[in-house]
Amino acid sequence: MNGYKKDTLERWTYDKSADLYGIQNWGAGYFDISEKGDVVIMPNRGNKNIRTSIMDIVSGLKDRGFDMPVLLRIENILDSQLTRIHENFKKAITTFGYKGIYKGVYPIKVNQQREVVEEVTQFGSCYHHGLEAGSKAELTASLAMLKDPEACLICNGYKDEEFVDLGLYATKMGFNCFFVLEMPSELSLILERAEALNIRPLIGVRIKLSSTASGHWIESCGDRSIFGLNTTQLVAVIDCLKEKNMLDCLQLLHYHIGSQVPNIRDIRSAVLEASQVYIGLVAEGAKMGYLDLGGGLAVDYDGSHTNYMHSRNYTLYEYCADVIETIMATLDEKNIDHPTIITESGRATVAYYSVLLFNILDISQFEALPLPDKFLETTPELIVNLFEVLTSMNLRNIQECYNDALYYRDEIRQLFKHGDISLRERSLGEMIFWHIIKKIAEECKKLKYIPQELKDIDVVLADIYYGNFSVFQSLPDAWAIDHLFPVMPIHRLNEEPTRQGILADITCDCDGKIDKFIDIHGVKRALPLHEFKADEEYYLGVFLVGAYQETLGDLHNLLGDTNVVTIRIGDDGDYSFVRESEGDSVADVLTYVEYDPKQMIIEFRKTAEEAVRKGLITPHERKKIMEAYDAGLRGYTYFEK
Ligand SMILES: *Cc1c(COP(=O)(O)O)cnc(C)c1O
Repeated sequence: MNGYKKDTLERWTYDKSADLYGIQNWGAGYFDISEKGDVVIMPNRGNKNIRTSIMDIVSGLKDRGFDMPVLLRIENILDSQLTRIHENFKKAITTFGYKGIYKGVYPIKVNQQREVVEEVTQFGSCYHHGLEAGSKAELTASLAMLKDPEACLICNGYKDEEFVDLGLYATKMGFNCFFVLEMPSELSLILERAEALNIRPLIGVRIKLSSTASGHWIESCGDRSIFGLNTTQLVAVIDCLKEKNMLDCLQLLHYHIGSQVPNIRDIRSAVLEASQVYIGLVAEGAKMGYLDLGGGLAVDYDGSHTNYMHSRNYTLYEYCADVIETIMATLDEKNIDHPTIITESGRATVAYYSVLLFNILDISQFEALPLPDKFLETTPELIVNLFEVLTSMNLRNIQECYNDALYYRDEIRQLFKHGDISLRERSLGEMIFWHIIKKIAEECKKLKYIPQELKDIDVVLADIYYGNFSVFQSLPDAWAIDHLFPVMPIHRLNEEPTRQGILADITCDCDGKIDKFIDIHGVKRALPLHEFKADEEYYLGVFLVGAYQETLGDLHNLLGDTNVVTIRIGDDGDYSFVRESEGDSVADVLTYVEYDPKQMIIEFRKTAEEAVRKGLITPHERKKIMEAYDAGLRGYTYFEK
């Protein structure tokens, strides 16, 4: 399990930390470690001349009174990711001589925060980057954000009359607003409203592909996908439009095979199938002109560059090149004009630009307290037996000792349950048991072949580091779907991390933890961490959290939104705060669950006055208590120092 070798002769340096945490594998050139041992941001991917230490930002935040946890957004990275997507498509288009153009749209659901959408439209404007809306609220937001008539506005999702009308007005105002049919039944509503308002709609169709993708979202594609038309329904749509003399309105073909598609073969086979459908639609007389490949462009969270679900086995350029090449090869055979290609990449656009920063509040570690030299006369036999397991252990009987230890420990617990041994005796038994586990873990390191059962034994000895954050609020996918994000200390990286730990959040929920970590060869069960010093802050960062984590998060234990700070890094490596938003206060989160803070103060004041009346507190104490209550309501929901 140890990703590193302990070598006391050689000094530990930042480059060893870089290998240990794999930062150069998953950092995509945006993150690295400085000679000082801090994690640095390189806004101009890989350009080591311009870099900013996250610790400097943390101290700047502290000076300004921002408490941890903080969600840090680095504007330059969003800017750079948008540019990369467009430039890579441009390069592939030129290389292969593709006759159409590329247009991107940002699917709002991936991170709907106004600031994020604002930044996407701002940085994407030179590329006419548009928006994708999957609901009425998202369309409403898009219409306020989008200013560029050359950008596309793609409307997916269920559409009611209000939704359709809004989209039609957008069309009338000159937007490239496409209604993508998710269900056959939507067509009649769109045609009816278009006629009533006398507007010719731009129509797209979402199709179900038979090509499936591996990865977490495997069920969102193929015949089992809940959205999209099958070929029979597609033909019915064509017939209906033909009859109404509106086939010229059908201009876009859309599919979405799921998010985070790790294997380029799946991407290729989907685009191949869609190209054939596109040919079919042209042959039927539809105007067409746009092919929308949806999302799916993956992020290499573990840096392994494989088809593992938290990774991807292709580069951004390979993605673009494969898409362009496949469409061209298929359409050229039938002499069909190359369409404008649209992708709806959300994850790849925004994941890199946010980092969750938090401090460690405390740790709990297994400490092998010394065992007594001699047992009392009265010490139960099972405990003495357990102790003998410890003393008789050698390299050849490890597995046997492990089995015996488990047996005796369980027997001791049984005795305790029946009241046959004391609390102190049970505690002694447990302590001996942990000594055995610790010794097994040490002995295992000397073995060439470790028995399967004992492979992860040192994980049970891992320390627990309590972090000032909530998994449910800030990393919902880590909890809900075991998503792996890169996590590491952001400083002290010239120092060897000598502990192995898992992370617990402050929700006190047994699920509020991170106990699986990225590893180039799969999953690590504990994270190498530094010795925690009570008088010194220890900061960790969770990286690549810009996609999907913010609005999927919830108010478990009423831990609210974190502070959010957006920075821009200048060419001198200096940074400036461009946006700041304070996280929820206690009063804010209570309001979300229908409390009224004003009323609460009134009620609590009555309780306090009652205590004064009963002589439990003085009037002056009442004043102090009310002040504390009031300050509590205004405070941050996380741990404050
Ligand atoms: C979720 C979604 C996307 C975004 O997918 P990513 O993998 O994040 O790029 C795009 N299009 C549709 C229709 C979606 O539902």
